[in-house]
Amino acid sequence: MAFKIAVIEGDGIGKEVAPEGIRVVEAAARLFDLDIAWDRLDWGCDRHARFGRMMPENGLERIAGHDAIFLGAIGWPTVSDVESLWTLLMPIRREFQQYVNLRPVRLFEGAPSPLANPGRIDMCIVRENNEGEYSEIGGRMFPDTDQEMVVQETILTRRGCDRVMRFAFELARKRRRKVTSATKSNGIVYTMPYWDERFRAMSSEFPDVATDQYHIDIMAAHLVGRPASFDVVVASNLFGDILSDLGPAVTGTIGIAPSANLNPERRFPSMFEPVHGSAPDIAGRNIANPIGAIWSGALMLDHLGATEAAEAIIGAIERVLASGENLTRDMGGTASTTSLGMAIADAVSARTERGVAAHG
Ligand code: ATP
Repeated sequence: MAFKIAVIEGDGIGKEVAPEGIRVVEAAARLFDLDIAWDRLDWGCDRHARFGRMMPENGLERIAGHDAIFLGAIGWPTVSDVESLWTLLMPIRREFQQYVNLRPVRLFEGAPSPLANPGRIDMCIVRENNEGEYSEIGGRMFPDTDQEMVVQETILTRRGCDRVMRFAFELARKRRRKVTSATKSNGIVYTMPYWDERFRAMSSEFPDVATDQYHIDIMAAHLVGRPASFDVVVASNLFGDILSDLGPAVTGTIGIAPSANLNPERRFPSMFEPVHGSAPDIAGRNIANPIGAIWSGALMLDHLGATEAAEAIIGAIERVLASGENLTRDMGGTASTTSLGMAIADAVSARTERGVAAHG
């Protein structure tokens, strides 16, 4: 199999973790005969400083034909968050109809959870990625007067709700057959009751999948109190964003959390990136945890149909974490970004050599 991947390392620790993701994907590619061409793009805040834009004007056209996009992190204090997000990440997610943001959350053996009795945490947060609370509809009136007012609209469409919920139910069928919906229909009285209505309608098409739903406030408490009870969680753009920082926090560190921005119909490339941002506070010191980027690389291979290669990467992460060696600072160790990346790449190669020997 041959793939062409657009690489946007981006800013801050994105420049440190994305190369480790590539290192590990390359290790898997060598062993599973994948031919990957990495098309490296200098898009991000450095480019903005030179040319006044996060990406070229025809940026999306340039990568529309690629098989996937592999991204590090975007954002730097020299460019406003609104500018960096809305002129690079948001256009990619929206123009390429990446309406599912899939964020797996797992507690690995060896990764320190802050919970005393976490149990077996293994869930997938399915966040709506194209509409909801993050809309461009709104405005400000009477600026700088005592009548000043702002409005920001939440947009939920039937198509938008149904397609992300359908994805969640189909995913649950491949897992433990349970979908939990995050809502707030007691306080947000138009959009969230509609979300609940669509959830009920979708669940009737999947009678073999169990469902429940919670208001977002108690849901946040349950994610800490009994995280092992969740399988697939489906949530709107804002609620999913919050829950998917909370989930990794109970499994030890946001540094390991991956995400996939998926266009399930594959009309456009999907984009794979760690959940964390550019973390300027630790950037340039080779101490960031690269597992979020590496696991995102595994999600990318899985999406591209290279399932065995993806599984080899997950297995390697599991073994390196369980060994307790080469952990970065956020996991209680002293290892560098590169040494953890290299350890996982070595574990990918070692496992397959053993696998070949065992089968031979
Ligand atoms: P964004 O708004 O884009 O999510 P942010 O700067 O608010 O960005 P993050 O970049 O996700 O938030 O980081 C929050 C904090 O978590 C950082 O300040 C950093 O200390 C820590 N952190 C994030 N990613 C990692 C990582 N890969 N390894 C170690 N620590 C990390």
